[in-house]
Amino acid sequence: MATATASPKPRTIKPPQVKDQPLLIGGKWLDSVSGKTFATINPATGETICQVAEGDKADVDLAVKAARKAFEEGPWSKMNASDRGRLINKLADLIEENQEELAALESLDNGKPYRDASAADLPLTIKCYRYYAGWADKIHGKTIPVDGPFFCYTRHEPVGVVGQIIPWNFPLLMQAWKWGPALATGCTVVLKPAEQTPLTALRVGQLAQEAGFPDGVINIVPGFGPTAGAALSSHMDVDKVAFTGEYITGQIVMEAAAKSNLKRVSLELGGKSPNVVFADADLDAAVEGAYFGLFFNQGQCCCAGSRVFVEDKVHDQFVDKMLKKAKSRKLGDPFDPETEQGPQVSQEQCDRIMGYISAGKKEGAKMLIGGNRVGEKGYYIEPTVFTDVKDDMKIAKEEIFGPVMNILRFKDMDEVVRRGNKTFYGLAAAVWTRDINKAHRLANSLRAGTVWINCYDVFDAAAPFGGFKMSGIGRELGEYALENYTEVKTVYVNLG
Ligand code: ADP
Repeated sequence: MATATASPKPRTIKPPQVKDQPLLIGGKWLDSVSGKTFATINPATGETICQVAEGDKADVDLAVKAARKAFEEGPWSKMNASDRGRLINKLADLIEENQEELAALESLDNGKPYRDASAADLPLTIKCYRYYAGWADKIHGKTIPVDGPFFCYTRHEPVGVVGQIIPWNFPLLMQAWKWGPALATGCTVVLKPAEQTPLTALRVGQLAQEAGFPDGVINIVPGFGPTAGAALSSHMDVDKVAFTGEYITGQIVMEAAAKSNLKRVSLELGGKSPNVVFADADLDAAVEGAYFGLFFNQGQCCCAGSRVFVEDKVHDQFVDKMLKKAKSRKLGDPFDPETEQGPQVSQEQCDRIMGYISAGKKEGAKMLIGGNRVGEKGYYIEPTVFTDVKDDMKIAKEEIFGPVMNILRFKDMDEVVRRGNKTFYGLAAAVWTRDINKAHRLANSLRAGTVWINCYDVFDAAAPFGGFKMSGIGRELGEYALENYTEVKTVYVNLG
């Protein structure tokens, strides 16, 4: 995710053993109020890893109460901003010290290759916490020259108790994107990890306690979307909800937020990102970038370059090169250091992707390789490449979230801009060309939150990420994310 380069090979390690997991509320590790648990599954085998306490409304109520108390009364509310920064840095240190264990846990619960977890997810997570640790004592307002005998200034105050609902594709990283700015600004947090991947969030919760975060500042309630997630987004005492997931779930979260207490909402949703290859591009680099931009993380990236537009003149050459690469992709055990592609996260996702593959075939796209499930157990799908894809096909319109590349032909700039923008999504886009004018024209014309020129999936904690149109509301990362977690207060002082 950091750069379009192959991950270095880590040493071979074994999948960790994991005990059953409680939830974290007010500094205590508890069973759920109902006593219910759910199984978290190893996607490589389909077997249960362990049971996890299943949070629901009653647990969310307790967690919100603890977060409210910590926000208003606890040591957190009086803490120096620089000390908040120190705590976030301490958490980053502890994640760094335990990075091998965390990468293994992420790989076990999510199915991503261990070498990707250790080369991408962990370093990006650590950098994200460190970046926001630096912000903690640099969040300030302005003095404003108003008319009259008044001194006017603004304060950027923490928005309050924050509900955060995250997905399963980058569990550690999404937690960092949410916790970093929330903790730096002085909010308190109730996190609901995805039901598919709760394990690393809970382990980071332990590390946060070890770092010394006061009780109630962070609370973690694993559980399902329509129960625990809905309780959080509709809660009357939650001041803001931050959500990453599908756009349809985003609509539900936003509606719940609107109908309860009009809590603030930030959303990072899906995409159908155009990746445009012009004939004058460095073709090998474009093939490498398009391959990485789609197949990375088993194709489970909201910003995946899932519509690869290739200029007519180089189309066939591009396809040949891409097929060669995709054919050589090594599927297998996420803990094997040679593995480039692990299983999809769940049976449900696997079925969904297979549904898209059959829709592509039915609608007349040409499937050149892949299209099958692999092995007797686990949720593996072959890298799949379609050509002759038309804009109105289901596979060109809907988010597949799997290792399925769609290649579309185009003739000129105006056409590719029009077709690239013909989607209700607007998360990301990329362009490959040696012509600086073309590159910038396309970057300006494509309606997307991030545009990569001659690269793909470059991320940095300092640079904002988020969507135009139905890909979301607000920006995560960078200074921009702080706005999601602060209220602006205006103060007038009478000097007359
Ligand atoms: P996916 O289908 O890829 O799992 P979702 O958008 O359903 O994507 O899930 C992202 C996160 O949203 C998960 O933590 C999930 O539990 C949560 N979620 C799902 N449904 C709801 C809901 N109705 N309200 C709040 N959160 C939800």
